[in-house]
Amino acid sequence: MQFIDLAAQYKHLKQRIDQRIQTVLDHGNYIMGPEVEELEIKLAEYVGVKHCISCANGTDALQLAMMVLDIKPGDAVFCPTFTFFATAEVVAYAGATPVFVDSDERTFNICPKDLERRIQQVIAEGKLTPRAIIAVDLFGLPANYLELEKIAAKYNLKLIEDAAQGFGGEINGKRAGSFGDMATTSFFPAKPLGCYGDGGAVFTNSDEYAALFRSYRVHGKGKDKYDNVRIGVNSRLDTLQAAILLEKLAEFPQELVNRNRLAALYSTQLTGNYLKPHIPQGYTSSWAQYTLVSDNRDAIMASCKEQGVPTMIYYGTCMHQQTAFSALGYTDADFPTASKLAKQVFSIPMHPYMAEASFVSVLEALAKSGVEIQ
Ligand SMILES: *Cc1c(COP(=O)(O)O)cnc(C)c1O
Repeated sequence: MQFIDLAAQYKHLKQRIDQRIQTVLDHGNYIMGPEVEELEIKLAEYVGVKHCISCANGTDALQLAMMVLDIKPGDAVFCPTFTFFATAEVVAYAGATPVFVDSDERTFNICPKDLERRIQQVIAEGKLTPRAIIAVDLFGLPANYLELEKIAAKYNLKLIEDAAQGFGGEINGKRAGSFGDMATTSFFPAKPLGCYGDGGAVFTNSDEYAALFRSYRVHGKGKDKYDNVRIGVNSRLDTLQAAILLEKLAEFPQELVNRNRLAALYSTQLTGNYLKPHIPQGYTSSWAQYTLVSDNRDAIMASCKEQGVPTMIYYGTCMHQQTAFSALGYTDADFPTASKLAKQVFSIPMHPYMAEASFVSVLEALAKSGVEIQ
């Protein structure tokens, strides 16, 4: 059994994807070909924002956001400690200081209360200028943007949604990618909407930000790439990846239905001594991961492995525990919830093409894995 079965998805879409790839090979516009713009228009439409600008990967999307907001040394950018490294990495790469925030214990997303406390702390210390918040839609569940947008407005901070995992999620019908001042996503193959290599995109309703994103992604271009009006990067989405994504996006709504059906089955039929995902009222997850919490994680995972069921840990190391951020001087006591989650979370197989037999195997493996059945 695969943890995420990309081959099953390809088998389902093979004819359409192969044809799209052949079309690109025939026209030969490998860089910024017509599929790139077609995809950007369709992605913006799907998310419900004015502009989508594609780029080379989800980390670049975040880095471009730092560039567009002119994040620089002396600035503080608040982000969760319980996330993938890239979220905090881009802040430090811009020369600014990431200020880590603890997690909500039921959603695992950034805790608005702890966020406000840390903003006030940075203001009181007077050393850094609070500039922005990067919220992450962890495991597919949008962060608490209703609260986060209020906090951002109160302290005059920009709000960035890192929707690398949340693409396809919703709050009261509003889609992930549409929250805050700008949002980023990743098309890494294992993400809810993935391509066959690296890819990413940013979303915004601001014409001004959109123009800056388009310039920064191609060497700070002015009227063309040989007219350079600012220092930028080279971060374009390949035409081939855009072509593949067009077919995957067409199938994506059905895949989300499948993921949610599978998640609902897990949530009703898993009966062990662990905490299951909590989806607040009005929220929809894109189920990038189905993650359980147990203080007996290692034994459960070992037993599942023995029974041929793959499980994974996302994430075993918080940002404040990373060697690269050790100079910031945090301890686990600063982040009690996230530090505990890092020791207790594990994710079980979740993808839109999971067969009934695999689902049953996962249930059986977990039931047999020494977990006390309630
Ligand atoms: C995957 C991921 C990224 C980075 O995306 P890449 O395309 O791999 O660069 C950033 N943030 C989060 C939360 C992610 O899960």
